[in-house]
Amino acid sequence: ANTNLFAALRAAFPADLDTVAVETDDGLLYSWRDLDRGSAMMANLFAALKLEEGARIAVQVEKSVEALVLYLATLRAGYVFLPLNTAYRGAEIEYFIGNAEPSVVVCSSANAGWVGPIAQAAGTRHVFTLDDDRTGTLLEIAAQCSDQHAVAARGEDDLAAILYTSGTTGRSKGAMLTHRNLLSNAEVLKDYWGWTATGGPEGRGDVLIHALPIFHVHGLFVAIHGALINGSKMIWLNKFDPKRVVARLPEATVFMGVPTLYVRMLAEPGLTKKACSHMRLFVAGSAPLLIETFNEWQARTGHTILERYGMSETAMLTSNPYSPVQGERRGGTVGFALPGVQLRVRIGDEHGDTRDAGTDEIGDIEVAGPNVFAGYWRMPEKTKDEFTADGFFKTGDVGKIDGLGYITIVGRSKDLIISGGYNVYPAEIEGFINEMPGVAESAVVGVPHADFGEVGVAVVTAKAGAIVDAEAVVADLKAKLANFKIPKRCFVVSELPRNAMGKVQKALLREQHKALFA
Ligand code: ATP
Ligand code: MG
Repeated sequence: ANTNLFAALRAAFPADLDTVAVETDDGLLYSWRDLDRGSAMMANLFAALKLEEGARIAVQVEKSVEALVLYLATLRAGYVFLPLNTAYRGAEIEYFIGNAEPSVVVCSSANAGWVGPIAQAAGTRHVFTLDDDRTGTLLEIAAQCSDQHAVAARGEDDLAAILYTSGTTGRSKGAMLTHRNLLSNAEVLKDYWGWTATGGPEGRGDVLIHALPIFHVHGLFVAIHGALINGSKMIWLNKFDPKRVVARLPEATVFMGVPTLYVRMLAEPGLTKKACSHMRLFVAGSAPLLIETFNEWQARTGHTILERYGMSETAMLTSNPYSPVQGERRGGTVGFALPGVQLRVRIGDEHGDTRDAGTDEIGDIEVAGPNVFAGYWRMPEKTKDEFTADGFFKTGDVGKIDGLGYITIVGRSKDLIISGGYNVYPAEIEGFINEMPGVAESAVVGVPHADFGEVGVAVVTAKAGAIVDAEAVVADLKAKLANFKIPKRCFVVSELPRNAMGKVQKALLREQHKALFA
């Protein structure tokens, strides 16, 4: 059998290809046949270009159903999909295109004036445009191609996509993902999250509201594969708009979002139990979900958000239980390792030896499984460094496992503060600050200090209408925690800096405050 991921997705299309596969929020309907024909035409366009085996197709376009079709066509034709964040500008695009050397670049017509020359300088032979209003040279040329296309045969270990990491801790790395990586994860999640082909508001099974960007693992893989491999309809929003999502909830059963999306939806008065009456599942991930958001969501909607954990290099690794038989969903944790995923917490000593952490002991999270990537693109040394001798990937996340097996992410090893020789975990301090009256959220980062090596600095935001006193935050912590853990300074700001996936940019905060004690 053909192990091309597209073959598996295509096999899951419903028997009646004329039913709706994607409905855009502005009322366009795409049938399964449209997805099939559209991807065939674009795949034929790529086949006609006679690209080399393993050729990368780099894509920086606004979200649209046609961009989804472009992803499917790339898989179908057997090439490697390389999505790029729509926020990236000249210097970033130059790095990614120079690094990835794609044979094809697809960009918006608005950006073609500067993306085109960058691509040509990097040796890219084909540049197409694609806009979110169903125009662009890609569609014009594809329209002349045949709508019959035999799915290209690909092996399990052949590359399907290169996903650049979010760049939260440093320069983005290209994670090479194989057809097996992506398909195994999609199949596990279909089962674990109880996707169904019957029931729901239209009696036709699950309906997903897709409101995430599609250049990242969450929107591209978890959400899209989740719906397609179940033959489920998507309600498609090109841009997240909390009002629009809330308005569409009664027609849907599944929603996936990064934590900030949940916070913004909670500000909508229309978010009620009634609006959610057909909903089956709310999934959150990509960044930590505040326990307050988790609790408030439960009170408002009657639904318990299911938090899961994953990354570009591995797709999904853990999930809170879906079914009560497996356990309850615990806020503040990311649940259990998914079936097929091996996850362990390791602690290193000064001799470079490591051992397994005990219950509740904090250490480095390492993982193995069919979902773990094939390595960083053109970084063999880095790839080697990030795997252990026995083949586990070092995630760079720090966490612990409790007596019941629930995994909690405590932070990233790069964010660990070593103050006077003691380890300080920012997440622990943030947890205490977040509980203080009037505090909305906080980020603790380490900055250089002449005596202690590093010390913590807390950056705090206040709830709407509340006033938080920076010195009172420090004083309160002093009453509760050991002295070496206390941030030496606290700043109250209006907003924490976040990237497109809602991740707090700690590197930026460290940079801003690096001269405080140096
Ligand atoms: P870079 O690797 O370039 O520094 P990044 O790690 O943020 O960027 P991604 O692969 O997009 O890039 O994000 C994966 C990371 O997101 C994980 O390693 C983890 O730190 C964080 N993450 C994902 N889900 C959760 C979650 N539920 N709770 C806490 N953190 C999460
Ligand atoms: Mg990372």
